[in-house]
Amino acid sequence: MEKVKLLYEGKAKRVYSTPEEDKFIIEFKDTATAFDGLKKADISGKGEANCIISSKIFELLTIKGIKNHYIKRLSEREMLVKSVKIFPIEVIIRNRVAGSMAKRLGLDVGKELERPVLEFCYKSDELHDPMINEDHILALNLATEEELKTIKEMSLETNKILIEFFRKCHLELVDMKFEFGKDSQGNIYLADEISPDTCRLWELGTTTSWDKDRFRKDLGGVEEAYREVKERVINTPIDSKARIFIRLKPSILDAQGSVILNALKSLGFNEVIEVRVGKLLELKMDRKVDEPERIERMCRELLANPVMEDYEWEWIE
Ligand code: 5GP
Repeated sequence: MEKVKLLYEGKAKRVYSTPEEDKFIIEFKDTATAFDGLKKADISGKGEANCIISSKIFELLTIKGIKNHYIKRLSEREMLVKSVKIFPIEVIIRNRVAGSMAKRLGLDVGKELERPVLEFCYKSDELHDPMINEDHILALNLATEEELKTIKEMSLETNKILIEFFRKCHLELVDMKFEFGKDSQGNIYLADEISPDTCRLWELGTTTSWDKDRFRKDLGGVEEAYREVKERVINTPIDSKARIFIRLKPSILDAQGSVILNALKSLGFNEVIEVRVGKLLELKMDRKVDEPERIERMCRELLANPVMEDYEWEWIE
């Protein structure tokens, strides 16, 4: 899939149209900004790290049933995604006090929270993404009540999944920012990226940052932090299962099905008028790679006979 036209250039990413209307390509840049663009630098390897980290996380979320815009990774820094219209809202989820919450409420950084805190901000660089509440969102028609409910549920569920995943990477997920989008049919997808640019990640059991705070606060070791998170994420396997259904194409005579049909009729089950026999395979995987099309290849190259058989597959938990 090739890029057709640059649609949008942000601080850390470019978005391109593709020959297919319902797909975009996101290209991750090495540029980092903070404080609404006041601080800017190039961090070597950041684009690649964020693309690889986001891809694997979106894949994990797909397996866990969280609808998201990710289709596949095209290269080290390019991702193919569903074209969605982004809601002008940022969702922040916090599991511990840090950043603007610590400042705003005069709380100690690192204080544990009894439950996750969900905040909304209005996406506007000029206004510095001001915090808003649900009434603002509804009164200003930024999302409907039903959309807002879905966005909140998806955010909290994603938080639970990511806390667990990052813990396996020996990282604590302190807080993060999500963006959501809507397709032409009104389906809501988790969008944007999930990376050390959008999450605060601390070494488990400490307050050592492995995220963009190293750049924001001049802590040093910025490139190393992105590389380290990338390595840990790549090396943390996603346990997953795929269920594959293989059946004869409708045009192919199913001899085994006919035998079963006759046997059923001989037992008096005359209501059955056709039997088609298929195969069901369940593959349990311990994957460090993020390529769903490997399953496609398994089907095409071995499991199904593409001349005679159709196949479908899905992730199962
Ligand atoms: P805070 O409100 O404490 O500055 O940020 C909370 C969390 O959301 C942090 O993990 C931060 O990285 C993320 N976040 C908040 N606003 C933005 C934003 O405009 N861009 C990005 N990339 N992340 C944000």
